[in-house]
Amino acid sequence: MGILVVGSVAFDSVKTPTGSRDEVLGGAATYFSIAASYFTEVGIVAVVGEDFPETHVSFLQKKGIDISGMERKVGRTFRWKGEYGIDLNSRTTLDTQLNVFADFTPKLMSAHRAQEYLFLGNIDPDLQRSVLEQMTKRPKLVGCDTMNYWIESKRKSLLNTLSMIDLLVINDEETRQLAEESNLIRAAKRVLTMGPKILVMKRGEHGVLMFCGKSIFSIPAFPMEEVTDPTGAGDSFAGGLMGYLAACGTHDDAALRKAVVFGTVMASFNIMDFGPYNLGNLTFPEIEQRYREFRQLSYFEDLAAKSTEPLPEL
Ligand code: AMP
Repeated sequence: MGILVVGSVAFDSVKTPTGSRDEVLGGAATYFSIAASYFTEVGIVAVVGEDFPETHVSFLQKKGIDISGMERKVGRTFRWKGEYGIDLNSRTTLDTQLNVFADFTPKLMSAHRAQEYLFLGNIDPDLQRSVLEQMTKRPKLVGCDTMNYWIESKRKSLLNTLSMIDLLVINDEETRQLAEESNLIRAAKRVLTMGPKILVMKRGEHGVLMFCGKSIFSIPAFPMEEVTDPTGAGDSFAGGLMGYLAACGTHDDAALRKAVVFGTVMASFNIMDFGPYNLGNLTFPEIEQRYREFRQLSYFEDLAAKSTEPLPEL
């Protein structure tokens, strides 16, 4: 089953402790769709300017991504510039030029309106709802992302959107801010009263907590010796997660756990290089291999059992 994702397509300028890049292909919908493309068919709803080059178009098309919903408008593409601190956990946005993204009013083509899986990327919550309202039937699963800006400036509208979705993917700080509660578990429980049935809380290098009903699932991040650029980690995580769920067509507990692991694996590949190029040049066996390594890494025996598994090698 395919996914439709709405969100930003951008040029990113990024500085990390190991280097910098100017105007590489970026944007939340870009990272999301590349990660999801390993699992299922994906269509992007986005806007770019006249300066968006053919090389980026063909890169996305080669991944099998349907870009027929990527509108090209007169003007410049959205630009984002950021710098990471020494431990890569803190990020400062240095510049945001919305350009054609400022008047983004997503209009779904009829071929996209019946998609079974929908991911509402980090855009104005009014626009997120307008996308959902254009669907001819309620998708099987609606995922959503947001950010501090919308939590602060459009809280009422965001709460309205949250009442209509199934799965929310946000980080720990956003969860605290949204719930107005500093304890993460209590904050998560409060968010689950706002509409979403599933909350997937990203915690950077500390991994992910997933809350669903009364259940909780916790996994670490995949330990990486070299992190080149964390940009897009959250979006490629969401792409892997939604991609796997769409591919298996169910979201029971077992599928959700696997989906969170696949999301973590996709994010770990993404942070190995600037831009989405490492993420975009993988084979599915490489993804499966890292999934298995990750399982071995987090495996431990039940209390009564004798350990049979050797420790994985570094
Ligand atoms: P992440 O590192 O997962 O938070 O995602 C970073 C990506 O989000 C970058 O590729 C940016 O182009 C994009 N981005 C940054 N700021 C915004 C914004 N205000 N709205 C939409 N996308 C953004």
